[in-house]
Parts: sequence; C-alpha cells; structure tokens
Amino acid sequence: MIEVTLLGTGSPLPDPHRAGPATLVRAGSATFLVDAGRGVVMRAAGAGSGPNQLTAVLLTHLHSDHVTDLGDLVTTRWITTFEPSPLIVVGPPGTKAVTAAVLESLAPDVGYRTTHHADLDGPPPVHVQEVSTGVVWDADDVIVRVGATDHRPVEPTLAFRIEHDGAAVVVAGDTVPCASLDALCAGADALVITAIRRDLLEPVPLPRLQDILDYHSSVEDAARTATRAGVGTLVLTHYVPAPVPGAEDEWRAVAAAHFAGRIELGDDLHAVRIG
Ligand SMILES: [Zn+2]
Ligand SMILES: [Zn+2]
Repeated sequence: MIEVTLLGTGSPLPDPHRAGPATLVRAGSATFLVDAGRGVVMRAAGAGSGPNQLTAVLLTHLHSDHVTDLGDLVTTRWITTFEPSPLIVVGPPGTKAVTAAVLESLAPDVGYRTTHHADLDGPPPVHVQEVSTGVVWDADDVIVRVGATDHRPVEPTLAFRIEHDGAAVVVAGDTVPCASLDALCAGADALVITAIRRDLLEPVPLPRLQDILDYHSSVEDAARTATRAGVGTLVLTHYVPAPVPGAEDEWRAVAAAHFAGRIELGDDLHAVRIG
C-alpha cells in the first residue's frame, strides 16, 4: 500500500485555505515529498510528518510555486535532527544551482545558529541529485523511476513513479499530455497530476492567465492521460481556479467524461490509499 497525501493543493495564486504544490508519498518505511510549495512544512506537520522524517525531496521542476519553501525544509531538517542527516533533494538539472542559492541565502542564519548551538557545527547538509530518466531510487523495498514531462517553455520537467509492495503511483507536476508521461504511467495504479479548468479560464480576459493554458493539463487532459495509461485512480491537485466549496463533484464530472476509474480531489491534507 502506498499512501498519497495532498499537502498543498493550491497554485501561485494566494489562497487562505490552500498551500502551494506539495504531495507526500508514504511507501513502507520511506516518505517522499514531491515539490515544496508555499506552506509545505506546516502542512507536513498536519499530516503527521516533517522535514526530519523525509527520505528524499523529489522536485518536478523549478517553477517558484513548486520550490518556494525549500529553504524552510533545509533549515527545519537541520535544526530538528541530531545526527548528520543530509536532506536528499532529487530534481531536474538546475536543482544544484537553485539549492546552492537557497543555502547561500541562509548563510546569516547558519552563522547565528552554529555560533549559538554547540552541537550544530556546520551548515545544513544537503545532497542534491540531478536526474533525467531511469531509476533514481532503489532502497528499502521502494523503487522510484523518473520520466520527462512537457511543460515547455519550462525545461526540463519531471514526473516520478514510486513503486512499493506491488503498487505504483506516478506523481506528475505541471505538464501537458506527452508520450513520456504516458510511458511512465503505463500500468500504474494511480496518477497524481496538476490540473486546470480550461473551460473556466478561457473566458477570463487576462493575458497572464491565458498564458498558462498551453502548458498545463486541463482536467480533461489529465483524465485522458489516466485512461490511456490504464491507471485505476486519478488524483487531481494544484487547482486553477481553486474549486469553490461544493464544486468538487462538478470537477469530478468533467474528469469522469474521459476516465472511468476512481477520481480523487479535495482540500489540503486529503489522503488517498493506493493498493
Ligand atoms: Zn510549473
Ligand atoms: Zn505549478
């Protein structure tokens, strides 16, 4: 069994009830965090987890809404672990530079804390692995594979397939439908994917909103991807616009027109068990 918890179901648009994109995946003794959006550490606490419990952070891409609280993860891991315990960050090429810049921004804080706390004798240990394809994790009965997605002009972007105990869950970030995502999803039990309501956004005469239409999956796109791959469960997140209370059934109906399996969406901390 793999448990997926939507820590943050929001988007770049500030929302008092939705944190930024982040999804927690518990597989056996491993806990993976996919993306690190606004409020991720607070929401992880709400899910009974935290930076000191993470096996690895998996980043789908380096758009700010997906990495904005990486610094909080780094610092909170550092000050809540009591043995050397590097934060492992797995992401696309470019992740090393972004992480180095985050660490640089923390330099004054690192100085304050290492001076003040005798048992903190160095900067936060962070191990970054830049990946593009193939198996990126194989330990503790968990395999994580990675595949490319298509969020152009944002490149490169990734989806992760987490396999454990006979179950497989793909967590995709922002992407339009593409062959490599189809291949990664083939035969998986669940697809977690960010989705926008094209039908609700298209009539809004705001150029910056119209710009996002061509590099995200609509709910219909996400549903068709799930159908092509034969997954049993489609989990939608990163809603644009955020569903108003009571609108979840309408979102489900839009997806159900193109996908016959289980459809999950909800508020932050909505959890789904797979397998
Ligand atoms: Zn993005
Ligand atoms: Zn995004």
